[in-house]
Amino acid sequence: MTIRFWQLKLITFYSMLMFINTLAYADEISGQQQVFDKANRLYASEQDATEVLPINVEILSLKNLSEHDRLTAQVKLLAFQELGLVLNHAEQYILHLIRANIANIPGQEYKVINWLNKAIKLEAFIAKKQLDEPLFASAYLTLANVYHSQGEEKKAFDSKEQYISKYFAHLEQQKSLRIKRLNAKYDIEKRDEENELLSQNNKIKQYALEHAESERNQQNRNIAIFIAAAIVLFLLLLRQFKIHKALIVLAKTDSLTQLPNRRSFFGNGHIYMEQALRDDKELSVLMLDIDHFKSINDEFGHDIGDQLICHIAALAGETMRSRDFLARIGGEEFAAILPDANIEQARAIAERMREKIQDECYQAKYKHTPISVSIGLASIKVVNDNFDSLLHAADMAMYQAKANGRNQVCSYCTEKKEKAD
Ligand code: GH3
Ligand code: MG
Ligand code: MG
Repeated sequence: MTIRFWQLKLITFYSMLMFINTLAYADEISGQQQVFDKANRLYASEQDATEVLPINVEILSLKNLSEHDRLTAQVKLLAFQELGLVLNHAEQYILHLIRANIANIPGQEYKVINWLNKAIKLEAFIAKKQLDEPLFASAYLTLANVYHSQGEEKKAFDSKEQYISKYFAHLEQQKSLRIKRLNAKYDIEKRDEENELLSQNNKIKQYALEHAESERNQQNRNIAIFIAAAIVLFLLLLRQFKIHKALIVLAKTDSLTQLPNRRSFFGNGHIYMEQALRDDKELSVLMLDIDHFKSINDEFGHDIGDQLICHIAALAGETMRSRDFLARIGGEEFAAILPDANIEQARAIAERMREKIQDECYQAKYKHTPISVSIGLASIKVVNDNFDSLLHAADMAMYQAKANGRNQVCSYCTEKKEKAD
């Protein structure tokens, strides 16, 4: 029986594989064991089985490689071991899985079981949640498959059960992790919404405050405008009132002598008379006319004539009682209402007035020209029809005084008496 060339090539390749495998296995028993011992010593003291341990990326890629290219994975594993890195329990666990994968060929099932059991012994040092990950749990799946190939169904079943329980635990863990993430995301979104709401509320409050402030300012401005307008209106009304009052005074006042004028005199005369008649009191009226005033005007001029009118007005006023009412009713004519004065008392006042004018107007100013007045009197005891009649009676008495030679006082009742006599 001849051995063909390709059969020889296959036998050589297989022998090489077996040799490398044996080398690796021997190395694991000796060299690598030292590394594991060192690592175990390092981690046994500080291992917290609740913490997830970090795993070197090269180990992870080696694990992937060992699942479909055993030979390359074995070469790379030897190179990795040469580095002499200190590995944690999780990394050691994965390395055992890699070795199991490399050894996983028919006839070497005992090696696979051996590596996987070694890995499982490290579980005490690894957090449960990390062991539940498919990367670690796959040990039980491989173990189940190996036991099954050997016909050890009970062990295969137990391993598979372990794998499934880890698989579901991992799913549960993932689920709770996802829920946690979603909750966290929801919390963040909720917080963001609350913050947004809060900031909007603050903006609304700020706007409301600004609005209230501007309304208050507007209100203050309106009040200020209203007060200013009220003051202006009040001042205008006050001015109007003063003007009106001044006009009333002007309408009742003689501009030359500042005495009440004819209109004022008649207005007051009726009131005085009605009151006296109602109360049955005395009342007399006095009429005064400057004698020959035209010639004074002619001789001294109109201005001096005006001054004399004012002078006589002042002198007449000085002889009056405080309750008497004196007015200028014509050019050089004056009249006075004398309340509570009978004809005799009126005559006394009139005489005093006439004498005072006669005496005090005899001045150099008028070139010592004798100045006199004629006065007529009337009493309501004689004429009581109305004020006009009473004044007319006084006027008639005054004309009588003129007719009698001027510079004298005549009373209407006296005239009547005299005529009767
Ligand atoms: P009698 O004694 O009869 O009263 O004579 P008389 O000259 O006073 O009377 P008459 O009525 O003839 O003249 C009055 C004059 O008074 C005429 C007028 O020019 C003058 N007169 C009237 N009003 C004023 C005035 O306001 N100022 C001046 N200066 N003269 C006036
Ligand atoms: Mg006259
Ligand atoms: Mg006259």
